[in-house]
Amino acid sequence: MTAGHGVDSIGAAGRGADPIVAVATAAGRGAVGIVRVSGRGLGALARAICARDLQPRHAHYGAFLDAHGAPIDHGLALFFPAPHSYTGEDVLELQAHGGPVLLQLLLARCLEAAQERIDGAERLPRLRLARPGEFTERAFLNGKLDLAQAEAVADLIDASTEAAARSAGRALAGAFSHEVTRLHDELVGLRVLVEATLDFPEEEIDFLERADAAGRLARVDAALDATLARAKQGALLREGLKIVLAGQPNVGKSSLLNALAGAELAIVTPIPGTTRDRIAQSLQIDGVPLHVIDTAGLRADTQAGDDVEREGIARSWAAIAESDAVLFVHDLSRVGEPGYDAAERAIAASLPAGAAVIDVFNKLDLGRGAGPAAEALRISAKDGRGLDALRRRLLEQAGWQPGAEDVFVARGRHLEALRRSAAHIASARAMLAGGQVPLELLAEDLRAAHDALGAITGRVAPDDLLGLIFGRFCIGK
Ligand code: GDP
Repeated sequence: MTAGHGVDSIGAAGRGADPIVAVATAAGRGAVGIVRVSGRGLGALARAICARDLQPRHAHYGAFLDAHGAPIDHGLALFFPAPHSYTGEDVLELQAHGGPVLLQLLLARCLEAAQERIDGAERLPRLRLARPGEFTERAFLNGKLDLAQAEAVADLIDASTEAAARSAGRALAGAFSHEVTRLHDELVGLRVLVEATLDFPEEEIDFLERADAAGRLARVDAALDATLARAKQGALLREGLKIVLAGQPNVGKSSLLNALAGAELAIVTPIPGTTRDRIAQSLQIDGVPLHVIDTAGLRADTQAGDDVEREGIARSWAAIAESDAVLFVHDLSRVGEPGYDAAERAIAASLPAGAAVIDVFNKLDLGRGAGPAAEALRISAKDGRGLDALRRRLLEQAGWQPGAEDVFVARGRHLEALRRSAAHIASARAMLAGGQVPLELLAEDLRAAHDALGAITGRVAPDDLLGLIFGRFCIGK
């Protein structure tokens, strides 16, 4: 499949692609379960299963029939003829009762009906099961969504906090794409200017100066910076902050975790490899997911366990190595003098090199101990004192700007593309600021900055990138 996205390629996927079918709702029992088909010429398939012609975009209640005309279930059938559908192709949705066996029967019935010659109409070419993300991939290839929006669909489904879900909704509605497209269009204007100057080199500097190329580029640079700052917030909402909890036994690590969790428990999305609750927990602060790995559980297990468990522990250590910060908890009532004691030095030595360590002194309510430096974080997991300051410190560590509005979800891939674009723009600005402008190099930098932005929305998207992005979706989406 080629990655020609945009108005020119509308229908490209639809014309060449096999029709696909999948159960679109989550596995398990529910009130409603949906089987979804996308492809061209689905009218005949709809007739075979529903025994009637379906009006476009109308809900039809009736029976879904098996090959002998006996009902499999009763439900709603919806038909969205191309191009006015999610994928841009014909889409048929069968909303049945949400039983796993029933939905498999309905799915099998679709595959079977596609092989029948209905009313002398052509058979459907090779209706097959959809790959993960294939419906959304077709929506992208048919110009219904750009790549950043398609990614936002997955992020919306995967969102672990309300703030993450809202930011994914904004990206899906196009907030991120619009910003990128505006930058993109500005760069097109500048490229045209520089390319034109290339054709009339005798005028070069004057021409660029009169057109205020440097000023325009500076404005693109500033806008790109602002977009990057917002995208960083969005990436944080998507990825969350990985925190390691360290400290001696009985200093209050579990109590602190519980206190931080309070009513703010996030829907748990375990860090890969750390599936056991006692080792990794997910909470949230102001909607920013916070994944906490408790090293105590790991140490206790080091000797014990079978191979699988040891493998799990090894993976947890790998996750620790990638953490954003370490919360090193101390017992204020036992702190005699500043500095770590021998046991704490041993713990500190086992932490990943270069980790950002946040020292936290717990049990403030006991009112004892010489205590650390005045600026140290003193808290009580018991009565909650100092927890707000700790939460602020954690958000600060993550680079979160409290109260940031209009955050849209973003991914590492987007940040990398924005940074690449910014680097080329910086280089172009430096050239324009110099006396003798090397026009070819300037043009090249603008082109590269432009391409980097195009990679975000998928104007420039290699096939292997599409495979990576859509392969991580759930089936039926
Ligand atoms: P961990 O081994 O580091 O996970 O420590 P725990 O959270 O299990 O706490 C050890 C003991 O210290 C328990 O008896 C807790 O009730 C107590 N504890 C924890 N935090 C506080 C605190 O802030 N103040 C007081 N007074 N006791 C605490």
